[in-house]
Amino acid sequence: MKYANRTDSLASEGAYQVLAKAQALEAEGREIIHLEIGQPDFPTFENVSQAGIQAIRDGRTRYTPPPGMPAFRAVIAQAAGVQRGLKFDPLQVVVSPGAKPNLFFPTLAVVEEGDEVIYPNPGFPSYEAMIRVAGGIPVPVPLLEENGFSFDLEAFDDLINDRTRLIILNSPGNPTGGIMPQEDLEHIAEAAIKHDCWVLSDEIYTRIVYDGCQVESIAGLPGMGERTIIMDGFSKTYAMTGWRLGFGIMPVELAQKVGLLLMHSVGSTAQFTQYAGIEALRGDQEQVEEVIRIYQKRRDTIVGGLNELPGFSCQNPQGAFYAFPNIKELGMSSQQAADHFLEEAGVALLPGSAFGKFGEGYLRLSYANSLENIGRALEKIARVV
Ligand code: PLP
Repeated sequence: MKYANRTDSLASEGAYQVLAKAQALEAEGREIIHLEIGQPDFPTFENVSQAGIQAIRDGRTRYTPPPGMPAFRAVIAQAAGVQRGLKFDPLQVVVSPGAKPNLFFPTLAVVEEGDEVIYPNPGFPSYEAMIRVAGGIPVPVPLLEENGFSFDLEAFDDLINDRTRLIILNSPGNPTGGIMPQEDLEHIAEAAIKHDCWVLSDEIYTRIVYDGCQVESIAGLPGMGERTIIMDGFSKTYAMTGWRLGFGIMPVELAQKVGLLLMHSVGSTAQFTQYAGIEALRGDQEQVEEVIRIYQKRRDTIVGGLNELPGFSCQNPQGAFYAFPNIKELGMSSQQAADHFLEEAGVALLPGSAFGKFGEGYLRLSYANSLENIGRALEKIARVV
């Protein structure tokens, strides 16, 4: 059979590959500690689950308008606005099944065949995949460890040009946990305006920050509201990865186009899931704060432990739930190190190279896992190092 070449450059996410290897070892009876998966280890908050269950009981199992129920869009506009100190119109909000469609569809709506798209590297693997499917040319910008894993702005200045249609940002970032400083956002905003580019700001970790850190959205900078797509969602903050619930906030005209892409692909997001989302945003937020305090303890434990290992040096991530140690002194590639720690120590983690070529020399360990498991993983790694 013949295939379109659209999917030729797509590869599986590293996390799924490592998970498969880890599960094969578990099937042989080995005990594996899973630090490869980027998903909260605690259950969806009870009030949110109950709202979803009640919605099903109430028969909220119907189609909704493709960009989401108007009441939910209004709640999102309000909550996301308060979170960022900005004002959004509900018509700017597009609800999607998971956050990913709000990366993919806006990219399809703004990137033409042959347009250049700047994105962070190491970065979330779906960025490069969706750029390629949209027919764009992926242009990776290295993240600099010495700059808290923000953009290498010199490289950025060399790469941006009038063919650049879109710039993707992710702060706090996966896989590094880095937060882009305000002055870097200002620099990027100035360049985006000069070259008339869109900015897609992946803010899915915006609530998961430590040490009282504040994350600014580039959408709030002068001239940026009209060219920024904010992508956010419920997977990480509310432990709702399997519910599939996310949203985008963008100029109304673009929201209408993304709504059409949703209409003709997924149709709409599950109605009862949207009711759960309303409860997530309207309900008690203290439980979110409590979980963040727990993550912060885990971060301190894992970063402290990694920095005691010979050949490891690990920055203190300011957000998300990933440690991203530099292992260049170990004398192995990231892939070799990840395989070694899985096979010899029984700890599943990801090679930095799974997030792009500039991730070589690093590992990603998710600390969305119990302090006990983190402690045991550190001991096991220490034994084989
Ligand atoms: N963006 C980043 C940076 C992520 O890490 C993830 C999930 O791992 C997503 C987007 C996708 O989120 P969702 O599972 O809600 O589609």
